[in-house]
Amino acid sequence: MSRTSSWYRFHNPMSPSARRRGALARTIAAEAGPIIREPELRVTCPSCGDDYKNDRVKTSNIEEDISGRDVVTFYCPFCEKEVQSFVFSK
Ligand SMILES: [Zn+2]
Repeated sequence: MSRTSSWYRFHNPMSPSARRRGALARTIAAEAGPIIREPELRVTCPSCGDDYKNDRVKTSNIEEDISGRDVVTFYCPFCEKEVQSFVFSK
């Protein structure tokens, strides 16, 4: 009888141990699953209109405007000068 009830507990999806196994399986799946990419951050040069990946340009300063948006000062390789841009995420 105890064998039957432990079998039942093991296979009953609502049992605490089954929920733990389910949680563990979800944790493993989450860790093994596709890595959630950080949103790609881009900056747009106001002078030439090109946008660049934030980590591909030389950033000299990052500040916040009054509404809390990130304003990046970066060196535009096309215009060959420092420009300022909001940061966009894609
Ligand atoms: Zn430019």
